[in-house]
Amino acid sequence: MKKRYCCERFESYVEDSLEVLEGQIVAEHFPSIKIVKGVADKFNNGKNLYSFLIICGFIKDNPPTIVIAFCPFCGKNLFKYYKDDKYVQGTWTDVGLQLYYGNTVYNVK
Ligand SMILES: [Zn+2]
Repeated sequence: MKKRYCCERFESYVEDSLEVLEGQIVAEHFPSIKIVKGVADKFNNGKNLYSFLIICGFIKDNPPTIVIAFCPFCGKNLFKYYKDDKYVQGTWTDVGLQLYYGNTVYNVK
């Protein structure tokens, strides 16, 4: 099923942040935006299944992340707009955040 983003700029920050070749990251552009799933009570008070992160650096360097609730470009409420697993690019776990790129899983603390 085709993904429909709230706006083109949000889509580009989500979809075009990474160039993956044969499961390996060959280039990163940041800041990027990631939509992740899982238990993250400290960020969402347990009300929402998804979290929305601005990632400010290279994934391998454990970059700082900023949790957002509204699209920085069009202002949409992200919790109301994104409710489908097809957008998910990572999962919160007990040891932190895991982001999926191609065949690779990156742990972000
Ligand atoms: Zn938007």
